[in-house]
Amino acid sequence: MRILVQKFGGTSLSTPEARQHVIRHIRKALSLGYQLVVVVSAMGRKGDPYATDTLLELVRQNGDSLPARERDLLMCCGETISAATLCSSLNAEGIPSAVLTGGQAGILTSDDFGNAHILTIHPNRIHDVLEQGKVAIVTGFQGKTANDDSTTLGRGGSDTSATALGVALKAEIVDIFTDVGGILTADPRLVENARLLSQVSFSEIVNMAHNGAKVIHPRAVEVAMQANLPIRVRSTFEEDEGTLVANFDALKHERNEVRDRFVTGIAHVPNVTQIVVPNPQAGFDMQVRVFKAMAERQISVDFINVNPSGVMYTVFDHEGKRAEAALQDMGFEPRLTPGCAKVSVIGGGIHGVPGIMAHIVEALTNEDISILQSADSNATIWVLVQGTDLVKSVKALHQAFLAE
Ligand code: ADP
Ligand code: MG
Repeated sequence: MRILVQKFGGTSLSTPEARQHVIRHIRKALSLGYQLVVVVSAMGRKGDPYATDTLLELVRQNGDSLPARERDLLMCCGETISAATLCSSLNAEGIPSAVLTGGQAGILTSDDFGNAHILTIHPNRIHDVLEQGKVAIVTGFQGKTANDDSTTLGRGGSDTSATALGVALKAEIVDIFTDVGGILTADPRLVENARLLSQVSFSEIVNMAHNGAKVIHPRAVEVAMQANLPIRVRSTFEEDEGTLVANFDALKHERNEVRDRFVTGIAHVPNVTQIVVPNPQAGFDMQVRVFKAMAERQISVDFINVNPSGVMYTVFDHEGKRAEAALQDMGFEPRLTPGCAKVSVIGGGIHGVPGIMAHIVEALTNEDISILQSADSNATIWVLVQGTDLVKSVKALHQAFLAE
């Protein structure tokens, strides 16, 4: 039998009208003869009644009193509510279905509560449900440890649940249904004329996702990429096929369009703090000490630039104060610029093309945007700008590289 995995995000499940669209996609897949596994996120977004952030509000007044293990139990509720609601809608419409939690679906994880990693999947119970002719609804974002404790996979974890199940079940493809038409050349909330990318390679999308394009989680793409499992990112509310993410060679086989573009998209990460730490006596050990101090405090660092006069890097805004205190404790005099944004120009074809950096600098300076820091790799060029310049920067770079 051909197996299809469909994943529906929060906004796709939050209202009865939206769920009618979900049911339409489910009916369509069943009519095509697929055995169907549906992975669901918690309903809605922050502020909505059963969204994960809302559930966490219930305990926020108590500070850090809820242990990580129990916190995961609370965080599992959103997906559970969503799955049971969808099951009831489906059964009411004459489509038999059964719900499995992440643990029941056989998703075994590490015991890093709140950010667990999938170790293996034993999907026997999913196969049982499918053999009974039912749709298997699986709560996304969840797993269980060897001790049967419930775990969650971290932000965007439902995407990873979907592709990992796709791999374990040898699905033909995984459909990620969301509130936009697919993967676009930039976040449509910032760039109104962002264009749909009809086909992209795994590596392009891993890059976009790592650099902030939150339409799909990077771990989900990496899991699919390792198993060469194609993904389609598409809208719940439309019929269109959206974006096909697949192996580059396979894509080339079908069409040539991919190789022709050297920039795929513009992505961004807001709310980062730039930290500049001057080197007091031009010795080299300060660099090691700075990054060790960050590691010891579990502060993740990015955009690192090391040179004899000191080090420069970024942390998320909410970690800025802790990072500053740690550096001051060691006798350094760090300078912090909070509220910055990292903007990335991404494309497999960037490598070695002369003039790209000049084009970026020109596009930004024409808009009076100052670049605080920059770096590049073979497939990405990053610039750090003030947060107040974020929207202007993304628009300017989109205009420079991707406008029709
Ligand atoms: P879901 O709840 O379905 O998982 P998300 O909010 O996680 O939805 O992801 C969808 C959102 O990702 C879109 O509403 C869009 O604003 C944002 N996004 C950011 N970058 C991109 C991009 N390059 N293409 C499409 N959407 C993007
Ligand atoms: Mg998402």
